[in-house]
Amino acid sequence: MQVLEQYKKILEHSEDALAVLDLKGHYLMQNRPHQSCFGFPDAVLLGKTATLCWGEAAFIRVMAALSEKAIFCGEIVRHRDVESEKRFLLSIFPIFDAEGKAQAYLTMYPSLKITRGEEDQLRLAASVMGHRLKGMMVCDPEGRIELVNSSFTRITGYALEALVGKTVEHFYSGHQGADYYPALWKRLRESGQWQGELWCRGKDGLLFPASLEFSVIQNPQGQTTHYVGILSDIREREISEERLLYLGHHDILTRLPNRRLLEDRLVQALKQADRKGEQLALMHVDLDHFKPVNESLGSAIGDRILIEAGQRIKNCVRDADTVARMKHDTFIILLTESSEIEHTATIAQKILSLLSEPMLPDVPDIRLTASIGISLYPADSAEPKILLRHAEEAMRRVKNEGRNAYRFYSEEMGAQTLARIELKMAIQRAIEDKEFKVYYQPQVDLRSNTVFCVEALVRWQHPEKGLISPAAFIPMAEETSLILPLGEWVLRMACRQLKLWRAQGLTSLRMAVNLSAVQFRQAQLPSLVQEILEETGINPSDLELEITESITLENIDKGIETMNKLDQLGVRFAVDDFGIGFSSLGYLRQFPIHTLKVDQSFIKDLATNADDAAITAAIIAMAHNLNLDVIAEGVESEAHLDFLREHQCHKVQGYYFSRPLPAEDLEKYLSAGPQGKGLPPLLKS
Ligand code: C2E
Ligand code: MG
Ligand code: MG
Repeated sequence: MQVLEQYKKILEHSEDALAVLDLKGHYLMQNRPHQSCFGFPDAVLLGKTATLCWGEAAFIRVMAALSEKAIFCGEIVRHRDVESEKRFLLSIFPIFDAEGKAQAYLTMYPSLKITRGEEDQLRLAASVMGHRLKGMMVCDPEGRIELVNSSFTRITGYALEALVGKTVEHFYSGHQGADYYPALWKRLRESGQWQGELWCRGKDGLLFPASLEFSVIQNPQGQTTHYVGILSDIREREISEERLLYLGHHDILTRLPNRRLLEDRLVQALKQADRKGEQLALMHVDLDHFKPVNESLGSAIGDRILIEAGQRIKNCVRDADTVARMKHDTFIILLTESSEIEHTATIAQKILSLLSEPMLPDVPDIRLTASIGISLYPADSAEPKILLRHAEEAMRRVKNEGRNAYRFYSEEMGAQTLARIELKMAIQRAIEDKEFKVYYQPQVDLRSNTVFCVEALVRWQHPEKGLISPAAFIPMAEETSLILPLGEWVLRMACRQLKLWRAQGLTSLRMAVNLSAVQFRQAQLPSLVQEILEETGINPSDLELEITESITLENIDKGIETMNKLDQLGVRFAVDDFGIGFSSLGYLRQFPIHTLKVDQSFIKDLATNADDAAITAAIIAMAHNLNLDVIAEGVESEAHLDFLREHQCHKVQGYYFSRPLPAEDLEKYLSAGPQGKGLPPLLKS
């Protein structure tokens, strides 16, 4: 029992909780920390089995492991704490006698340093340690893993089952030279010890710095029976605070923010978006088929691809946006600051196309595709976690549908967006391809039976879809500001056309052109109009710009200023669709307006709807009082004409006389006149 006497000394001087068991698991001795930890004095403990401290199930499990391998490394729950689940790391090694026969077992709780036996302190220590325990692995003489504890699982992400039979090379990161591991094993075999720091790759594919301590366990014959390795994640043990902060928030490989930083930023961004009433978008980008690439070309190339992919994705967004690497080949993008949905889709599209370019200059033919899922705040959720989940779900759907695409979590939103993006791009292309046409609809003066003016109305002559009405594309053109080049083009065409008609003898014809609020907000509008007037040589007073009531309500001072400038040029203003807005006639007096166009919705039901009739009559009367011209739009029938004549509205526009026509057809119409309507041919003056 001399050996045990020696152990008594070791026990006395150790701060770790230690005890010695006989081969059947009865306590032979314990030290003070052990007594404090488990709370049993020698009188109670000695001679009892370790069931006392571990509980029956754990005792059976440990003894079974010992009979098989003579070594145990794992976790137990202290018996008294079964309910509160206080976990302890337990290592058991055999104690050999001089003949090399196992004589007893040394049980140790390596991370449990107990100074004085105060229970509270102990509990605290135990719970803190519980999170920070080192990872332990036990390998066989060939270096293959036999056992790991739960901290090892936590640090590396791999469960025991996935590791059994593997060597430490399994964590190979590609950041050590090829001779690193052979050297490690050589040194370990020769000196019985190896200690160092290395980069490990966890199950999530991310790298982390770790320290590894390997030691050899030999039997008295000097044969190696096991290697025991202690692995610590040293991410949190870096020197400078700044470095610590950086490491804690970034992925080491790509240097992009990690999950933690992304989640922080997401929470902040949501708060801000909520305050400012803005949208934000979350994109889950998952590279397609990255795993086989990584496996066939090796992780060194795989890493370069990931770095490059991260960089390309970053190039698609603004600095204020966050691109984070979550794990493996997954990136999350947080788009802040009122990300418009089209903008988001455009970015997704750009990412897909950038990734499809060759990834590495020296390794030809590596191109990637990706699957991208997008969730939106506030449309999809206001919860960070749910937004992340929705984006991932959308990404899964892309994977299921064949990859290499993006989609929104909300199908409806996605479909709408797609349609809108397509429309936007189509409008852009149509402007370049000159697919737009200007049609002209006559405005007739009932007293003189003349067409005194025509309204220019744009049409889209689509190569496949045929003639498209402005209602289908003007709103989108306005939203995307494409109305600016389009509106300018219409104005120029209309003025040129008027010049031609005037030259052909239609000397009293005027031209009405619709002006969008977007155009009206441009400070250059007056100079643009002036330029076109000069260029085409038409008389400013022969041009009537149709604006809507909303323009006058929007930014009054600015609106009046712009209108005054245009008024000084001599052009006329008509208020289009009058009556459906909120402005009163009195209010409109501030503006240099010449004509009111009664909205066609009132005209439509004049005969049957008394309210509409009353409103129309009132608008006409008030326009007369204010000395404004008044014209009725949407005049389709004799009945409309009768009512309007009766109420002294002499100017009309509508299908009753003519639909909007291409210039050539309008010329024919003008020379034939509105025959069959009981009116004489229109005068050419
Ligand atoms: P708007 O300026 O009020 O034009 C009158 C609309 O009523 C035209 O529709 C015209 O075809 C239609 N219309 C005329 N007479 C009748 C009728 O008797 N019955 C019925 N049911 N409808 C009639 P369109 O051409 O489809 O244009 C729709 C709107 O698109 C226009 O309303 C205008 O706001 C806008 N728009 C058209 N061209 C332009 C343009 O060049 N620039 C801008 N900014 N807007 C334009
Ligand atoms: Mg109009
Ligand atoms: Mg109108």
